[in-house]
Amino acid sequence: MLYEQITDEPRLASKSWMTDCTEPLIPGENNDMLASVFTGTGVLIHAHPLNKRIAMRGCGNCESMNVLVIYAQWSVSTASGDAYWDYEILCNDCQKYTSRSFSEN
Ligand SMILES: [Zn+2]
Repeated sequence: MLYEQITDEPRLASKSWMTDCTEPLIPGENNDMLASVFTGTGVLIHAHPLNKRIAMRGCGNCESMNVLVIYAQWSVSTASGDAYWDYEILCNDCQKYTSRSFSEN
């Protein structure tokens, strides 16, 4: 099921992501074929390496596609083959954060 939340503060990214992150896209140290995570100051959806695995959409508040992906993680269970992901975007138009989480089961 898919769970969406629209907030004024980041929910998945760290509260201080804007100053913590020094690059737009920072891969996790242990990323592999079964699990990967990306943080950073954000990239557009079409530039994000997980955009084929995660059905990323625009702002949940104003539906703008002018959004930056500031957090995304994707993993698949080796036992069940089920995929899990969540990601968070910041809207450049309305400045709201949209986070979406999905699990296949
Ligand atoms: Zn928006």
